[in-house]
Amino acid sequence: MISAVLPRPYQNYVYAYPHKTAYRPLPERPALSRVWAGEPRSALSLYLHIPFCEVRCGFCNLFTRVGAPDELTTRYLDALTRQAGAVRDGLGDAEPVRFATAAFGGGTPTYLDADELTRLCDIAENVMGADLRAIPLSVEASPPTATSDRLAVLAERGATRLSLGVQSFVEAEARAAVRPQRRADVEAALGRIRATAIPVLNIDLIYGIDGQTAASWRVSLDAALAWRPEEIYLYPLYVRPLTGLARHADPAVAEQEWDSERLARYAEGRDHLMANGYEQVSMRMFRRADAPPQGPDDYACQTDGMIGLGCGARSYTRTLHYSFDYAVDMRAVRGIIDTYVATTDFGSALHGRVIDGDEAARRHLLQSLLQAQGLAVADYRTRFGTDPWDDFGPELHALADRGWLADTDAETLRLSERGLAYSDAIGPDFFSPAVRAAMAAYELR
Ligand code: SF4
Repeated sequence: MISAVLPRPYQNYVYAYPHKTAYRPLPERPALSRVWAGEPRSALSLYLHIPFCEVRCGFCNLFTRVGAPDELTTRYLDALTRQAGAVRDGLGDAEPVRFATAAFGGGTPTYLDADELTRLCDIAENVMGADLRAIPLSVEASPPTATSDRLAVLAERGATRLSLGVQSFVEAEARAAVRPQRRADVEAALGRIRATAIPVLNIDLIYGIDGQTAASWRVSLDAALAWRPEEIYLYPLYVRPLTGLARHADPAVAEQEWDSERLARYAEGRDHLMANGYEQVSMRMFRRADAPPQGPDDYACQTDGMIGLGCGARSYTRTLHYSFDYAVDMRAVRGIIDTYVATTDFGSALHGRVIDGDEAARRHLLQSLLQAQGLAVADYRTRFGTDPWDDFGPELHALADRGWLADTDAETLRLSERGLAYSDAIGPDFFSPAVRAAMAAYELR
């Protein structure tokens, strides 16, 4: 049976569970040596967060600020060095510490100039002990900051993936998304990236921009495809286009129309990429089928055992997720960065959430189910000793009733084509009551 009433398709992008709005101050402020005691450390992920951008894109809800006055980047790198030293001390030397992946994210890591990027790599290598040239290293960049000197540093230090936030090749759409840019500048940045020795190029595009049509969306898709990037991400816009809303007296009608437009653009994008030799990895991610394998897939660093450095980065052990304070409002973000650069003692975890067995199971299920290849039931049983249908029967039956689960053997739980399109409506159903309550009680600032 397929239910006629569908939930709204764009509710919550679950890029990490639990969301930071479910974190709270940790009253006992545990020392990092205690937090990491007994944790596996043979294949950690390292993530360095740079919270600076040249402009604030209209669609952005990430932890970042515009500009960095008064040598703030220098002070930020000084603080990163102190934090890295404290974390490395917390990990101790009783067992070897090995990093399996590394990533620089933001913000815009390439907001840093070439010398500062060298410093950033030095922190990863010399303080944390990551062998950047031997492991996958992913870096995010914007077109104006993807300059030849910065790219040369990154390539020389071992970057294997460069992700460029293009969003749209159509100049009017870039303006509508509050990220004005000239197409010629974007193409020049792509040329510079392809001229370096960084093997994987990812291009981010956004659909649902005010004024975007099927034809103009195709222009961006084809412009991206012309570079044969190894990966393409298609993101739905989440910030409502105000002019679109203004066309209607009834906001509910406007929302429905926008949902249908985004669903249509998604399907067009997916079909066009798949017709051009790409495989779907998730609702957002597409990989060129003939791209050389690049080792671990998880560039988003959501696996257990992650060290996040920087004031917007999270760290994960098996039983605790932690970070610094969180905000999206500009003034609050600036205050958190100012506090971070003034911090001398980084030896404790301050904000976070304890991850018990139930939350770990929800996280595992969400992160597997929202991937096109789905959840291997045997893996789930091995890790949690139970069956996902016993743990999440009502939620999974609701997906099946809507036709969102593919017909597979009993050993794989996979979303159908329709289910993948509704990925952002699926996540919240699997949040625990406690996480839901914490997110609802969080006062956004
Ligand atoms: S470049 Fe990225 S992080 Fe910076 S404002 Fe734009 S979307 Fe946000």
